[in-house]
Amino acid sequence: MRSKDLKRSAVFLAALFLLLLWAAAPMAAKEAKYVFLLIGDGMGIPQRIAAEQYAGKTLAMNILPAQGITSTHAADRFITGSAASATAMASGQKTNIGLVGMDPQLRSVKTLAEMAKEKGMKVGIVSSVSIDHATPAAFYAHVPKRGQYYDIDVALASSGFDYFGGGGLKDPANQRDNSKNFQGNALELAKKNGFTVVSDKEDFMALDCSAGKVLASNAWLQNSGALPYDMDARPEDVTLAEFARKGIELLDNDQGFFLMVEGGKIDWACHANDGKASIQDTLAFDQVVAAALDFYEQHPDETLIVVTGDHECGGLTLGFAGTKYATNFEVLSKQSISFRKFTNEILADFKDKGEQATFAAMKPLITKYFGLKFDAAPGDPLGLKSHEAVKIMQAFERSLSGEAEKSSDPETYLLYGGYDPLAVTLTHILNQKAGMAWTSYKHTGVPVTTSAQGVTAEAFNGSYDNTDIALKIMEAMGLDATVRYTAQTEEKAVVAQE
Ligand SMILES: [Zn+2]
Repeated sequence: MRSKDLKRSAVFLAALFLLLLWAAAPMAAKEAKYVFLLIGDGMGIPQRIAAEQYAGKTLAMNILPAQGITSTHAADRFITGSAASATAMASGQKTNIGLVGMDPQLRSVKTLAEMAKEKGMKVGIVSSVSIDHATPAAFYAHVPKRGQYYDIDVALASSGFDYFGGGGLKDPANQRDNSKNFQGNALELAKKNGFTVVSDKEDFMALDCSAGKVLASNAWLQNSGALPYDMDARPEDVTLAEFARKGIELLDNDQGFFLMVEGGKIDWACHANDGKASIQDTLAFDQVVAAALDFYEQHPDETLIVVTGDHECGGLTLGFAGTKYATNFEVLSKQSISFRKFTNEILADFKDKGEQATFAAMKPLITKYFGLKFDAAPGDPLGLKSHEAVKIMQAFERSLSGEAEKSSDPETYLLYGGYDPLAVTLTHILNQKAGMAWTSYKHTGVPVTTSAQGVTAEAFNGSYDNTDIALKIMEAMGLDATVRYTAQTEEKAVVAQE
C-alpha cells in the first residue's frame, strides 16, 4: 500500500471512530439526579381505574410511558403489609410482616433514601398519614416492630434528612411505646438537630430554601396523626400535593434529590370500604404525580419518576352482581364526607340527642351525606330498595346501641369489619349502586401496577417483584444495585464475629 493510501485510510478510520463516538454518546447511561418514588398505599389496579372512571379523565400516573406489573408478597406471608412492602421498595430486601427497614434476621438494611443522602443528595419524605407510619418509616428507621413509634420518631429526628411533610408524629414523648431507649422528646430532638418545625399553613407556604431542614405537618390531624381525607379537607388544610410541591422547592439543588411521597389514606379508605374516600385520595395522590411531571418537564434528562402501590386493599372490584354489566360512578358524587367524618362528627353528635335519635331523624342525614334516598321515584339511581333499607335500619340500631366496633363475632365482622355499622353499610350500598364491590377489610394479594417516566424508565416495563423497584432505582442513580446493610448492622456483625 502506498503511503498516500495509508494516510487516507488512517484519516477515514479516525473519522469513522469519531462518528461512532458521537453516535454512542447519547446512548451513554445518564444517572437519575432527581428521583421521585410515589407510593399509593393500598392502591391496586381497581383503585386507579375507579378514580379514573369517576373523574372522567385519564390519571397522570396511568399514562406514564412505562407500565409494569409488580408482585407484593412478604417473606413470610402471601398477602403483605405496609412495613414489609415499603422495606422491599426502600432497600431491595424481602422481609417479614411488621419489620421496618430490617431483613428477617433483624439486620438493618440500607435504604434508597440513606444511600441518596450518603451520595450528597437531599432527601425528602412526605405522607398523608403520620410521618412515622410504616411506609415513610421504612425509608429512615430500622425497627423490628412497626408500632415502635417513639423509636421511629427518634430515628426521624436523627436521620439527617432534609424534609419531612404531611402527618404528625404518633409518639414523640414515648407515652404509648414505652421504649427503653428514651432519649427525650423526639420533637425537641429534631429541633436540636436543626429541624424547623412547622404546623401553620401560612408559615409553611412561606418556607424557602433558607429554611434549612424542615419537619412540617398539617394543623388538623383527623385521626392517628394523619391528614384529613381529601374529601374532608378544608381550605386551611395543606394538601398532599402542596406538601410535595414545597418539598420539590426546598430539595432542588445541584447535587440532586430523592423524594418519597406516600398517599397513605387510600389504604385507610379501602380498609373501611369507602369507595368515594379512596377515589378522592387517589385523585389527590395523582396531583403529586402531576407535580413531579412539572419538575420533569424542566429536567427531562436527569429525572426519574416511579409511581406504584405497596399492595391492593379491600379486594375492590369494578362490577357487582346487583348491577350486572352496568356501572354508575356518578352516584358517588353525592357522598360529601368520608365514613370517618360521618362517624366522628355527624353520628357522634346524633347519638347525643337521646330520645330524638330515631331512625326517622337519621334518614335525612343519610340522604344529605350519602345521597341515598328512602322515598325515591322509581328508576332513581340513588333510590333504596326495600332490602337495602332494612340493612341500613339494622346497622343503625346496632350503631346506636353502642355495640363495640371491633366485634369478635365472625358474622358481625363480615358485615361491618370492625367499623361503625351504619357508616360501613352506607358506603357498601352506595358503592354497589356505582357497580363497585369489596371482598375484604384487609389487604389482598393481587399484583399492583408500577408506572415510570424519565431516566431508565423503560426498566419499569414488564413484570417484576417489589424488591426490584429498589434495585432498579439504585441502578438509575448509579448506585451499587445490591442489598446492603447499615453501618450499625455491620458494627454488630463485627462484634458477633469477634
Ligand atoms: Zn400499605
